[in-house]
Amino acid sequence: MNSRRDFLQKIGVSALALHLAPLVGWANNTTNNEKTYDGKVLRVAIMGLGSYGTRVAEAMQSCTKAKLVGVISGTPSKVKAWQSKYGIPEKNCYNYENFDNIKNNPDIDAVYVITPNGLHHDQVIRIAKAGKHAISEKPMSVNAQQGQEMVDACKKAGVKLLVGYRMHFEPKTLEVIRMRQAGEFGKIMFFQGQCGFTIGDPTQWRLNKQLAGGGAIMDIGIYAINGSRYMTGEEPIWVTAQETKTDHEKFKEGVDETIQFQFGFPSGAVASCLSTYNMNNLDRFFLDGGKGFAELQPSTGYGPIQGRTHKGELTQPITTHQTVQMDEMAGIIFENKKPIVPVDGEEAVKDLKIIDAIYLAVKTGKKVDIKLS
Ligand code: NDP
Repeated sequence: MNSRRDFLQKIGVSALALHLAPLVGWANNTTNNEKTYDGKVLRVAIMGLGSYGTRVAEAMQSCTKAKLVGVISGTPSKVKAWQSKYGIPEKNCYNYENFDNIKNNPDIDAVYVITPNGLHHDQVIRIAKAGKHAISEKPMSVNAQQGQEMVDACKKAGVKLLVGYRMHFEPKTLEVIRMRQAGEFGKIMFFQGQCGFTIGDPTQWRLNKQLAGGGAIMDIGIYAINGSRYMTGEEPIWVTAQETKTDHEKFKEGVDETIQFQFGFPSGAVASCLSTYNMNNLDRFFLDGGKGFAELQPSTGYGPIQGRTHKGELTQPITTHQTVQMDEMAGIIFENKKPIVPVDGEEAVKDLKIIDAIYLAVKTGKKVDIKLS
């Protein structure tokens, strides 16, 4: 199966929905083993039936604890197609004007927001006010202040706010985290995260500051930011960052093409990362410690994730990330399960604070302190 980046570089993001390869059935889903599950099922409506929404919907067909039961969309033809494909009843279909009425629908537990980044804030707050659990795609919003408002709104409404950090459930990633926690790499000294692809269609929302909130950092660089945290097990305390822009037509003011950034951590460990919309073959994490190393490449694509450590190849099972994520999220919502790496709104606000700091470091050319608590 092609990686997301292979797709993107060949056809451009906007064409993705038309070209999706079969997404399930090619991998072992760990949660699929729980065939006898007879607990509560998380009934989910997807908002935004685009390329990633389509991928999530397909992957959810293999879930045991979560089920796609509704849609929220601005495109009636997609709603019809999804209704017939997934057996979604008319009463569970909404558009962006009327979805507040979901509060009167006892057959939907949660809404998964998979729309452009700049819309997540208002949409999640409306979902919270409707009394439904919210799952937001990454980035949760476009700055830390908005992110905090989302956290506060969900808290006030007594609903959960989760974010689609699918790598937090990926077996090889979790094995590296286990090894690091067990001290198998020794003292962690260095992390390197390289995340990027060459973006296609210049008219897509990802290159529109208002809808995307920025550029590559918001979309793909966030994997290096989030990864630097779960791979090292520390929170960065400072950042320096440098932007390079070669195409001012495609990457307008406020839309970053390439940013290199460096973190310092309390232990003295450092990180060096690259985020770009203008280079291919960049999907690599490297963690170095006093006693060993881990390398994941690909590290955050849809899979299969591959990797090795100083002890040899990583052989944990290949999963369909979105299937596992949604089953695990059902457990988090209904059973209060605690994932090894958090996927809640507070976790996402940390990434957004770091993004704010990266943009400030680019703007000022100075080392910027990061305060996450
Ligand atoms: P797409 O453009 O493919 O789909 C977005 C959908 O949002 C549209 O199809 C549309 O659905 C809806 N929408 C509502 N308002 C607008 C608007 N003003 N402009 C464009 N679309 C609108 O984007 P993706 O699916 O690739 O990305 C959506 C979100 O998912 C982003 O936040 C992105 O970062 C995230 N994502 C996460 C990934 C992951 O691996 N975790 C991977 C890819 C994306 P409709 O017609 O139904 O209204």
